[in-house]
Amino acid sequence: MEGEYILYDVVIIGSGPAGCAAGIYASRAKLRTLIIEKFAPGGKLLNYEKVENYPGFPEPIDAYELAQRFNEHVDKHGVERSVDEVIKLEVAGPIKLAKTASTEIKTKAIIIASGAIPKALGVSGEKEYEGKGVSYCAVCDAPFFRQQDVAVIGGGDTAVEEAMYLTRFANKVYLVHRRDKLRAAKTIQDRAFQNDKISFVWNSVVREIKGNTDGVEEVVLYDRVEDKEFSLPVQGIFVFVGFSPNTNFVPASVGLDDNGFIITNENMETSVMGVFAAGDVRSKPLRQIVTAVSDGAIAAVNAYKYIEENSHLWQ
Ligand code: NAP
Repeated sequence: MEGEYILYDVVIIGSGPAGCAAGIYASRAKLRTLIIEKFAPGGKLLNYEKVENYPGFPEPIDAYELAQRFNEHVDKHGVERSVDEVIKLEVAGPIKLAKTASTEIKTKAIIIASGAIPKALGVSGEKEYEGKGVSYCAVCDAPFFRQQDVAVIGGGDTAVEEAMYLTRFANKVYLVHRRDKLRAAKTIQDRAFQNDKISFVWNSVVREIKGNTDGVEEVVLYDRVEDKEFSLPVQGIFVFVGFSPNTNFVPASVGLDDNGFIITNENMETSVMGVFAAGDVRSKPLRQIVTAVSDGAIAAVNAYKYIEENSHLWQ
């Protein structure tokens, strides 16, 4: 309604596992809650294929389906939604503002659950060939590489799982890692070592990505042990070298760690009263769906306490 003044109790930024859990807990505490999401609901889960370590699903569950279930659960509790991008937060006073390009949303508390985006390698050719052979999402792009040769860069859970997913489409998958041991969980490693479509390229880093006007043709690598440069002829390069936090809208008053992740205490409170953070955007040792969900619940419970204990601020 025109001129209507809405003061939300909690605004949650992001609808991945952390944002959804926060939404469910906040709405169950009878807080007027809004989730703002700039893409489709589900967060980074939408980039994955299967989830095999979320309790309650002994058979691997489709990641997209899990994202849908989280969001259905949120909707069942009457959380309001906005599809928009928060570009600025103003958090100094008791009424906090989440600003988008077209509107300004007022709230008593904010939970930042904006997650993280894939890191780039920063090598020559990477930007130029993004979308023309260079990808950061196997689930999105693997079907374009049927019967072709591709390289996956990285040695963590994401790189190894996505390499296995790519073997369903690609002819051959090179897994290029900068050391001679994978960082990925042992069970994930074991499955990858048994997959004969994957060739492991150890101790090597990407120097350059080369191609023609149609797309990628080769990746130039440097073997750090042998001290020599060599090339792999590939049509696709999938980069999975970790994530950077989505914090470009977060004001300087909210403390970040050296890598730009938001620092919280165990109550998910940031350095600013009434501002909480949850999930992958938070500085923490273990980024998993299960820890994101836990963060979201804790953040919402403490947002509720903050609002109850400070009710005089909004009278
Ligand atoms: P990650 O664990 O941070 O691994 C990043 C990988 O990229 C590492 O192997 C790292 O090498 C390598 N790397 C980093 N910068 C590089 C560079 N400039 N050039 C070449 N290689 C580089 O990231 P992730 O695999 O995306 O996982 C992120 C989080 O999500 C983790 O906590 C992970 O456990 C979790 N996750 C879990 C699952 C699951 O449980 N099913 C699935 C996906 C992700 P070094 O090893 O040498 O550092």
